[in-house]
Amino acid sequence: MRSLAHIICSLLLLCGVSHAQRKTAIFMADGFDFPVGKPDGEGYYKARGYTPNGHLGEDWNGRGGGDTDLGAPVYSTAHGLVLFAKNYYHGWGNVVIIRHAYQEGGQTKFVDSLYGHLDQIHVRYGQHVKRGQQVGTIGTGGGLYPAHLHFEMRKDIRVGMARHAFPKDDSVYWSGTDFINARRKLAPSAATVLAPIDTFSAATGKAETISPEGGFVLPTPKPSSPSAPGSTVPGRYDDLRKMLEEQKKSK
Ligand SMILES: [Zn+2]
Repeated sequence: MRSLAHIICSLLLLCGVSHAQRKTAIFMADGFDFPVGKPDGEGYYKARGYTPNGHLGEDWNGRGGGDTDLGAPVYSTAHGLVLFAKNYYHGWGNVVIIRHAYQEGGQTKFVDSLYGHLDQIHVRYGQHVKRGQQVGTIGTGGGLYPAHLHFEMRKDIRVGMARHAFPKDDSVYWSGTDFINARRKLAPSAATVLAPIDTFSAATGKAETISPEGGFVLPTPKPSSPSAPGSTVPGRYDDLRKMLEEQKKSK
C-alpha cells in the first residue's frame, strides 16, 4: 500500500511542482546573439527552421556547405548557466543546455537554449557562461548528419531532454531566430537574479527514438557514465564572483 507521503509526492510531480526547488544566482542576459558566426550569424545560413510539431529547432550550416563547418565554434546565445553538457546519443550526440534569465515587461523570465550534435563540449554542468562564450564545436551527431548545429530555444524550462513529455508547439518552444532578433540588446535592472535549476522533467529516463532531425534513430548503447551529474555544484559562487570582477574590470 502506498504511503500518504508517496501519494502527495506523486500529486506534486503531476502538477509540475517541485518540492525541492533549488535556486542559484545567474547573470541576467544583456541581449541575445546568434550561436554561430557571432554575433550575427555571419557566414552561416539556416538550412532548416523551426516548425511546431515538426522540427523543434533550427539547423545552422556554414555557407561553405557539407562538413566545412565541422569543428567551428558554437557560442552561448546569452549569459547563463550550463544545466546539461554531455553525450545523449539517440540521434542527438553531444548536447549543451543553458538557462538564461531576461527582463521583459517588468518581469523576470527564463529561457533555455540547446545546442545539439556538437563535436566537442567546452563547458561543464554548473558553469556560468557569458554571451558569445564558446560552448563547443559544430559536429555531426557522431557521424549521423552532415556537420551542422541543431539549436533550440525553450520557453518551458522543464523540458531538458524529455521532449516527448511536452507539447511540441509554441507553448513550449520559441522560434530561435525570432526570439533572438526581438532581444538583441537588453538593459537588465540587476546584474544577477535567482534562477530555478532543478526543473528538468523526471521523465528524462525515457529517451526519444525520433531524432531531432525527424528520422528514426536506433539508440546507441551508453558506455558507463564517466561522471555523475551533480558532481559539480551548480552555479558555484566562486565562478560568479570571478565573472562579476572581470565584468567590473572590463567597464
Ligand atoms: Zn535539427
